[in-house]
Amino acid sequence: MADSSVGSVWAMAVKKQRTRRALGAQAGLRRVTEGTYLAHLQKLGMILLASLPQPKSTDDNARANYKTVVTGYWSYDGNGSELPLLFAVMKLADTSVDVQSQLLLEGRNLKLIDSPNQLIFIDDVPTNLHAEMAIVQYLCTHGYQKQHLAGLLEIYCSGKGVCQDCSGWLTKHGVAHAPLSGAPSPTGWKNPLTGALYKASEDKLVYTKGLRAMSEFNRDFGGPYQGNVKL
Ligand SMILES: [Zn+2]
Repeated sequence: MADSSVGSVWAMAVKKQRTRRALGAQAGLRRVTEGTYLAHLQKLGMILLASLPQPKSTDDNARANYKTVVTGYWSYDGNGSELPLLFAVMKLADTSVDVQSQLLLEGRNLKLIDSPNQLIFIDDVPTNLHAEMAIVQYLCTHGYQKQHLAGLLEIYCSGKGVCQDCSGWLTKHGVAHAPLSGAPSPTGWKNPLTGALYKASEDKLVYTKGLRAMSEFNRDFGGPYQGNVKL
């Protein structure tokens, strides 16, 4: 039976992805100059990356993820009772490396944080939830709303750039971030608040929200494959 709502959800997903990636391709929100939070995060990321041992895994994807550290800084101090937070998102294959102590030490040196309570370390991120979005999700499940992110949260990706999907989302919500990879996510991207998944597979893209894959479309064509979903 034809279901026009599926078609419209589908069209909306295409539009959302295009809008997000167009925003992510724009300049702005990523000045890394001496003394800025982004510059501090860049430095922290380099230190953390250098401290990690070589990954034991032979899986290319695992190795690539291992060589990435995403750091974030939440500078909220609106009413005096909230503390700034320093985030680090990274895969740890070797827990003998005391990354948290190192991060605390460097965070203190840079006068970003004072206590371990301000350090948020995330090493377990669900598939397709990018590290940048894991920071967003943390804040938005700990008392803040996406409207509170602008101008307060900054994110730096060490080891590789921020993908166009994350960049688009962060730009839309006023979150400073750097550097950019200049490319969309090659595999999949999950919205940190709605859980909507845009999963890429060669020239196709599957949009999933909730438990059901709602649609599949050819990215070049920009619409549904004939026969998969009737409009
Ligand atoms: Zn991303």
